[in-house]
Amino acid sequence: GGLAELDARVSVCRACPRLVEWREDVARAKRRMFATEAYWGRPIAGWGDPEARLLIVGLAPAAHGGNRTGRIFTGDASGDFLFAALHRAGFAAQPTSTSAYDGQRLLQARMLPAVRCAPPANKPTPGERDTCAPWLDRELELLLPHARVALALGGFAWQALLTALSRRGLDVPSPRPAFGHGAEVGLGPLTVLGCYHPSQQNTFTGRLTPAMADDVLARARELSGL
Ligand code: SF4
Repeated sequence: GGLAELDARVSVCRACPRLVEWREDVARAKRRMFATEAYWGRPIAGWGDPEARLLIVGLAPAAHGGNRTGRIFTGDASGDFLFAALHRAGFAAQPTSTSAYDGQRLLQARMLPAVRCAPPANKPTPGERDTCAPWLDRELELLLPHARVALALGGFAWQALLTALSRRGLDVPSPRPAFGHGAEVGLGPLTVLGCYHPSQQNTFTGRLTPAMADDVLARARELSGL
């Protein structure tokens, strides 16, 4: 099967008891400002171009972002920052991503989370990361034939991505290259790039500025041959 089958299978996964409980509790309780909305409350699939040259790997859906809208990086402050940057770089058709039905499209890009269910405090356990890894592996298997660049947003995604790529047989150096903003690892036809995660802790404090995101995405564009 292809990506559509993978998306359907992941959307009903219940392998992590703590995360299943959390994602469903959050979806029932809701945040007051979203009280009239039906939350997704399930695992989140990858999203974007199935033949993308750029893969963007995040950590996990946010409780009231992806876990609410059903679409990765959609409906929260991290996504607001990220989609604005992707739009400036030509990887997104619109500068915002507010709901799964907003007409947004990714252009030559696809986003996928390292862990597919919203975790408490945005922190999956190592066990949850490992339980979810086969979904990442399967999606990478389908995407790597077209991908030229994999952009890891934050250290968690960087580690999960490099581990997954080495499981797929790519020659990841040992010791593992350290994560950093602008860090770059060439793996034959694929280059892995590091970018600070666009969380509010990073964007509100100026640790990650729009100009810094633009620099990394310009490099991603160059490496993508676009
Ligand atoms: Fe399944 Fe991954 Fe969600 Fe765990 S985090 S329940 S493995 S989709």
